[in-house]
Amino acid sequence: MTASTPLRILVIGAHPDDCEIKAGGITALYRAAGHNVKFVSVTNGEAGHQSRQPAELAALRLAETQAVAKLMGIEYEVLNNRDGRLQPTVEARFELIALIRRYRPDLILTHRPNDYHPDHRATSTLVCDAAYMVIVPHIVPEVPALRVNPVIAYLSDHFQRPAPFAPTIVIDVEPVLDSILDQMTCHSCQFFEWLPYTLCQENGFPTDPAARRDYLRQFYAGFNGPLADRYRDLVIQTYGEERGRKIRYIEAFEPCEYGSPLTAANQKSLFPMLP
Ligand SMILES: [Zn+2]
Repeated sequence: MTASTPLRILVIGAHPDDCEIKAGGITALYRAAGHNVKFVSVTNGEAGHQSRQPAELAALRLAETQAVAKLMGIEYEVLNNRDGRLQPTVEARFELIALIRRYRPDLILTHRPNDYHPDHRATSTLVCDAAYMVIVPHIVPEVPALRVNPVIAYLSDHFQRPAPFAPTIVIDVEPVLDSILDQMTCHSCQFFEWLPYTLCQENGFPTDPAARRDYLRQFYAGFNGPLADRYRDLVIQTYGEERGRKIRYIEAFEPCEYGSPLTAANQKSLFPMLP
């Protein structure tokens, strides 16, 4: 099926791989229906490794993002901000305002402002600070302002303070689980080198592709699995009793108050995969 008027979806993560693990499933569903998606990594990812040097790592991670772009038929842009040091500066905000204006998204997905990683928090602040300003012509005057503030929604997380994640949209991503794992596999230096190191599992880590696939599948089940149960009432409300009870993996999204309102009317057009 191809959409008559394709949507433009902009996913803004702090690092190369954030978009994939939090919105890789909905991206696969958008692409299957002919919609356009762009991933952005606000930092260059140069810090995410125990032994590779920053410049080498940034180049490798850029190549990994382009493998995802090719796999999914999407754009993927990596901004030249240093990993682990992102600040919500006016310069970084203006860069994001220009990027958002040039892409003209119908919907932006990004991190929430409360999150364990300082770069995720800074990314969220930057997107929230760019919201509304994207329609102000005197701000970044060299790039024509948008007439309408895009709808913005937050990617899921499990942090409780100062307020827990409160989704209004849940999407069954189990039918596209293989695509999510394929996207993660593109980030080999993260999921097969850095992640095992951070979990102290690097000794004897499998080199065999099938065993690595199993590792990824288990890792994904570990961090995504609890979501469907946490929001089971909304999953059932969305998909009905029979399917809703069985769904194991979801991606969930919470409207951000600084974007245009997510209403019952535009919800169906922005999330056309909803039943
Ligand atoms: Zn990240």
